Amino acid sequence: MDLERTLVLVKPDGVQRGLVGTIIGRFEATGMKIVGMKLMQVGEGLAQRHYAEHEGKPFYEGLVNYITAAPVVALCLEGPDAIAITRKLMGATNPSDAPPGTIRGDFGVEISRNLVHGSANADDAVREVGLFFSDEELIDYSRSNDVWIVSDEG
Ligand code: UDP
Ligand code: MG
Repeated sequence: MDLERTLVLVKPDGVQRGLVGTIIGRFEATGMKIVGMKLMQVGEGLAQRHYAEHEGKPFYEGLVNYITAAPVVALCLEGPDAIAITRKLMGATNPSDAPPGTIRGDFGVEISRNLVHGSANADDAVREVGLFFSDEELIDYSRSNDVWIVSDEG
């Protein structure tokens, strides 16, 4: 299985409702690694580039207003099949179609306030991670040492 990276956003409704920890926890508990993470306010330009595929659709303007209205938490997650696993944990776009156990199924009621974004495919993932993170902001864990064993530093 190929190691993949994907972009996740805890959208403004998730941040405002105090669900950041809960939502990140669902992803983290799978074993996927957080390789990038930041709280940020999305500007209109970034929102338009991120959602370019939806330009012209009836919900586009509302979508850009929603994602720029308040801070989001952006995450880059890494793991085998990270793109599909992330989408599975999110549930269907419309919370009413998302089963219990998924983030949207457990915490959402409305398609336009569905709490979380996850890249849809490999091309989108590369593009979206690049929009939200610079290379320097993404962690290479092969350069890290384990610190979860009892410290020998006293
Ligand atoms: N959206 C909406 N109304 C719709 C369809 C989509 O408000 O009828 C919003 C919703 O926030 C969704 C985002 O637009 O998450 C992007 O839509 P997409 O079809 O890419 O869904 P996703 O990939 O987020 O599941
Ligand atoms: Mg999408």
